[in-house]
Amino acid sequence: MFPMANPHLYKPNLVIVISGPSGSGKSTVINALCKLDETLRLSISATTRNPRRSEKDGVDYHFLSKAEFEKHIQQGSFLESEEYGGNLYGTLKSEIAAAREAGKDSILEIEVKGSLEIQKQNLAPARSVLIFIIPPSLTTLEERLRRRKTESEAELKQRLDIAKSEVREIKHYDYWVSNPEDAVQDAVQQIQTIINAERSRVDDKLIETINPLLGVSCGD
Ligand code: 5GP
Repeated sequence: MFPMANPHLYKPNLVIVISGPSGSGKSTVINALCKLDETLRLSISATTRNPRRSEKDGVDYHFLSKAEFEKHIQQGSFLESEEYGGNLYGTLKSEIAAAREAGKDSILEIEVKGSLEIQKQNLAPARSVLIFIIPPSLTTLEERLRRRKTESEAELKQRLDIAKSEVREIKHYDYWVSNPEDAVQDAVQQIQTIINAERSRVDDKLIETINPLLGVSCGD
């Protein structure tokens, strides 16, 4: 079990955004992390991409037609939405709200442009933390993508090109984590450490919580 910040003092308010090139092992790391820490709620994105054989609607993604996705854009349902490899992907505001209602921090697995879009937004009372997962090398990425056999040759090449441009954007991220082959647990542990540090930040939320305990009013 994950050592939690003191639940009396910490009120979940994080939107933890995890990015990294396709094949960097983000999903494996995030799934392991969510199993360890039940105060994290994984945001299920919407996409127009076709489901892979193992994927289920409402579990891996909300699979939408292009028309449905565009309707959501018009209705302002997305916190961010982007095009990736010819398909649309987006984070529904309702997913973040559901985490807040459940008293949990949100965790998002999204590509770089969408992450930077979230970073620009004022999410108060929540705040974003951006973490980038670095794969060992482009060769490893290619091997991992080939092994999973979910993309055509052209799609695979496109994903590798996007990977290079994504790594260039790491300078905008708050943290990086490496994910070498066979070291998922190390990556999970590194992310846990980051989350714990972020939960221990002295911020307005903590002051709000602590003042009544000390009998101090906000103006003091
Ligand atoms: P995949 O097709 O491999 O599931 O995802 C392709 C890329 O889209 C990955 O980098 C993934 O992190 C990203 N992605 C998944 N959901 C979202 C989302 O809601 N918004 C954005 N901007 N990217 C997403």
